[in-house]
Amino acid sequence: MAHEQAKERFVESMVQVMDFTSRILPDDVFDKLKELQAAETSDMQRVIYDAYFDNLEKAKELKRPCCQDTGILHFYLSAGTEFPHLGMVEEALEEAVRRASAQIPLRQNTINYFEERNTGDDTGERVPWVHWDLLPGSQDLEIITYFAGGGCCLPGRSKMYKPSDGYQAIVDNVFDAVADLGINACPPLVVGVGLGHNIENAAVLSKKAYLRPLGTRHPHPKGARFERDLTEALNRLGIGAQGLRGENSVMAVHVESSGRHTATIAVAVSVACYAHRRSLVRFHSDLSFEVLSHKEAGH
Ligand code: SF4
Repeated sequence: MAHEQAKERFVESMVQVMDFTSRILPDDVFDKLKELQAAETSDMQRVIYDAYFDNLEKAKELKRPCCQDTGILHFYLSAGTEFPHLGMVEEALEEAVRRASAQIPLRQNTINYFEERNTGDDTGERVPWVHWDLLPGSQDLEIITYFAGGGCCLPGRSKMYKPSDGYQAIVDNVFDAVADLGINACPPLVVGVGLGHNIENAAVLSKKAYLRPLGTRHPHPKGARFERDLTEALNRLGIGAQGLRGENSVMAVHVESSGRHTATIAVAVSVACYAHRRSLVRFHSDLSFEVLSHKEAGH
């Protein structure tokens, strides 16, 4: 396939991907919200969950984004080292966002720092934000598309500790962050905790943590237990949907970790709101693609 033809096909496919991702929540998130709705006991919580689901239904029906804050577009790529179109991917993603911004349409959210001006098309300096990982030997390209809203997903918090502060500092940090950040988001939240050796790697890990499918667990048994304990404890805060009193503050807590330096403990917390607009698609070498996150992908 000629380069320009391949690029055009990829751009149009990614516009479709952003379109359904902006309107329809992934299956795991939708199912979890239904489960949490059933567990709420107060009339107020029932009304809020009904409003959430009514909003999601209308977004589908009217073909509009399910939240006015369509955020900044983040793409987390797992790129096969044998995928034949790697060279055009970043440029094509930028073009796809530009088209999606006009066609879906998306709210124009990207500001240039030094001109203090809205770019008008949701692209800009290093926007969309693209993160690359490699899939050795694969011919596929997997893309997580994420709409990172300004009240929930883009805030977040990173902090360095000394080992003498103890691992209790990690727990305190998570609770402080969720109590602070949760107020501006729309709970129930997905909480991503990154445990690393510096601010940079902890922050990236916290983001990867909340992008993980719900129901998955940290591979280390103690990491998995830490996730379960934090979920249970955060749910005792009594922050329900929309920040009003309720039974469940979080959909899940996910932890991602790396080795740490003997002298450092790095903790980052990122939170995602109920409108957790993430999709996972897999492109093959002929640029056909399959949607892995949504049964009802709308394409
Ligand atoms: S917290 Fe989420 S649902 Fe609420 S306004 Fe922000 S992006 Fe939208």
